[in-house]
Amino acid sequence: MADDTVKRAGVIGLGAMGFGMASSLARAGFEVSGYDPAPAAQERASDAGIAPLASPEEVFAATEIIVLSLPAAAHVEAAIAAAQGAGLLAVGAAPKVVIDTSTSEAEVSRKLAAELADAGHGFLDAPVSGGPSGAAAGQLSVMLGGDQAWAGRAMPALEAMAAKILHVGPSGAGNVAKLVNNMLVASHMITTLEALRLAEAAGVGAEDALRVINSATGRSAISEIHYPNWVLPRSFDSGFSTGLMRKDVRLARELAERSGCAMPVADLVAELWAEENSGLKDADDFMHMGDPAVDRLSKKEKM
Ligand code: NAD
Repeated sequence: MADDTVKRAGVIGLGAMGFGMASSLARAGFEVSGYDPAPAAQERASDAGIAPLASPEEVFAATEIIVLSLPAAAHVEAAIAAAQGAGLLAVGAAPKVVIDTSTSEAEVSRKLAAELADAGHGFLDAPVSGGPSGAAAGQLSVMLGGDQAWAGRAMPALEAMAAKILHVGPSGAGNVAKLVNNMLVASHMITTLEALRLAEAAGVGAEDALRVINSATGRSAISEIHYPNWVLPRSFDSGFSTGLMRKDVRLARELAERSGCAMPVADLVAELWAEENSGLKDADDFMHMGDPAVDRLSKKEKM
């Protein structure tokens, strides 16, 4: 580690992503503690040598580097508010740096980064790509937004969790980049499904069509990784839920609206992902959307 004094890390939110990140930090030599309100998540962490603590405040009290992996921006705000309420992010308290890996909102990140900076603490928006397997292997891609000096202080922890660390710009820039990326993921799921259903309807099997797409210009991570691993084998267990995909599409469209940017394709993609059109519940793995055997696209009334 670059800085021998920073050896303790805490992870708040020990779900599909947070548990893997905590494990990667522990493997890299950090002393790791964590918190999750779900007893099963606490137990799994404990079994893996991650000290389960009783609250977010306890994690802030025990560590200098705090990684958040939470469902949404409101949970991030609540964790920070709890630490502030306990005086752990006050002026004069031991400096902490928060690495927020949640897919969150730029405006919330900017507000929290400004508040923490005023008190001498760091807040980085650091959303990730790579799924639960990337988190467990320490091979994520991080899209970093925030102050360079705090990014430097967080670097040993980021390097333990990620293979690629892309500093996009100031606070909020990581969140913007992540939403732009995930809007494409949501779209690629649907365009790839549409293409494979056309191939099958016209007499070419989905696997044969995919082999060609992945050797040609229509390919994407969805066609190269997701279809071969989770859709065509029909395991549908990528570890990313339809509810989280819908959250990302909603946030990208809200960002577009605030930015005055027309997104006609995103508008249609959002409708196709909606439960009434796709038939998918929030808890379903998002890979189900790509199933060529199920017609999820013609339920939506023609525009
Ligand atoms: P998850 O539902 O598996 O995990 C979230 C965890 O947060 C759960 O264990 C839940 O109990 C816990 N939690 C809820 N409220 C909490 C609180 N107030 N304090 C502490 N913990 C709380 O979700 P996930 O798939 O791990 O995703 C986490 C974040 O990472 C989300 O923002 C998601 O959009 C993002 N993300 C997920 C993936 C993926 O492939 N799963 C990839 C990139 C980014």
